[in-house]
Amino acid sequence: MKKIQMKTPLVEMDGDEMTRILWQMIKDELLLPFVDLKTEYYDLGLPERERTKDQVTIDSANANKKYGVAVKCATITPNKQRVEEYNLTEMWKSPNGTIRAILDGTVFRAPILIDSIKPAVRNWKKPITIARHAYGDVYKSTEYRVPYPGKAELLFTAENGEQFRETIYDFECGGVLQGQYNKDSSIESFARSCFQYAIDTKQDLWFATKDTISKKYDQTFKLTFQDIFDKEYKEKFDEMGIEYFYTLIDDAVARVIRSEGGYIWACKNYDGDVMSDMVSTAFGSLAMMTSVLVSPDGNYEYEAAHGTVTRHYYRYLKGEDTSTNPMATIYAWSGALRKRGELDELPELQAFADKLEEACIDTLNDGIMTKDLVGLVSEGYTATAVNSIGFIKAIRERLEKKLA
Ligand code: NAP
Ligand code: MG
Repeated sequence: MKKIQMKTPLVEMDGDEMTRILWQMIKDELLLPFVDLKTEYYDLGLPERERTKDQVTIDSANANKKYGVAVKCATITPNKQRVEEYNLTEMWKSPNGTIRAILDGTVFRAPILIDSIKPAVRNWKKPITIARHAYGDVYKSTEYRVPYPGKAELLFTAENGEQFRETIYDFECGGVLQGQYNKDSSIESFARSCFQYAIDTKQDLWFATKDTISKKYDQTFKLTFQDIFDKEYKEKFDEMGIEYFYTLIDDAVARVIRSEGGYIWACKNYDGDVMSDMVSTAFGSLAMMTSVLVSPDGNYEYEAAHGTVTRHYYRYLKGEDTSTNPMATIYAWSGALRKRGELDELPELQAFADKLEEACIDTLNDGIMTKDLVGLVSEGYTATAVNSIGFIKAIRERLEKKLA
């Protein structure tokens, strides 16, 4: 069989632990036999980040900017214990944080749905994609534990010396204080990434804040979205028959639960943190959650939403059989290949990505799955647990038939 050709390389960001093992299996079994795979390889595994003083992460993000599309394996974000385990000279920052800072993007997370695993919310029929603003607010806040009575003020001093000052609270006892911020530029990129992704995936976009209570902070988010929508995206949305819908966050939560899914839900940073865990759990499993970082100027980085699955890796190292779910990592590859195919006008490559995903879904619908999923299968369906390589080989069998 002639291999499917590519034009531009994908930026390949390898990672750590169990997902690094899966990465190689996916390439060997599902990609290399069928695609003349062109990648520019960056090893973001912790040993290489240590060796290069994390330069490799920065280089990979710049390559993502240069070529437009990257596929990333899960990576360890070092903590104290990892510094010892890997003998690190520094507690290197989260690669995802570094990449996000360079690309200035928004993260979109969508679940993979299959017939035999029913969402906990009965009426959800289509995926709900969460778009989380990954900058500022409470994640970059300054906090103070008020020890005794006193006056708290909000003070802003402009570059020209002008001042804004307002009393937050006259404390008659101890309490707590928090100062948070966001930037117009970041809110604007967030909005553009969301509108762009809605167009890319032909889905409605919902956005919600608490602007009735937060009359300046959240109001700014609301107005920024509306302004950018009206000026830059409304025409295209109308043409495509998709909708931008704004509501209050509490109303949005109620509507999401009553909906059948099939839209993008843009969330401020904290809302996105909380709601994405709720949505992914209600849909089934973190191992079935895809994730893509989209920058406002149209760069894409595809990955799985889960981590490096450390517990399975330690078992793997002891020679034990592991049944780690590779679905989200396979979808990171198929998403990246499809996008590359779109950008380079390679219909064959796009079709390959579709068939690879179909082969995955067929395998699961045939009841062949990893252990984590078997426990979630609804009554009336049968499922058999296989190990990771067994699962990948079952996908390969089905993929070969589709490509023949
Ligand atoms: P994790 O790797 O997502 O795993 C947490 C648990 O979820 C696993 O122990 C496993 O449960 C289950 N799980 C997750 N993915 C699975 C899969 N594909 N197949 C089957 N089960 C799966 O999170 P973590 O243990 O908190 O973090 C491990 C490392 O990953 C950390 O070093 C962290 O820094 C890193 N991390 C990286 C990223 C990223 O690169 N995007 C994201 C999150 C975490 P059972 O053990 O019960 O089977
Ligand atoms: Mg969270």
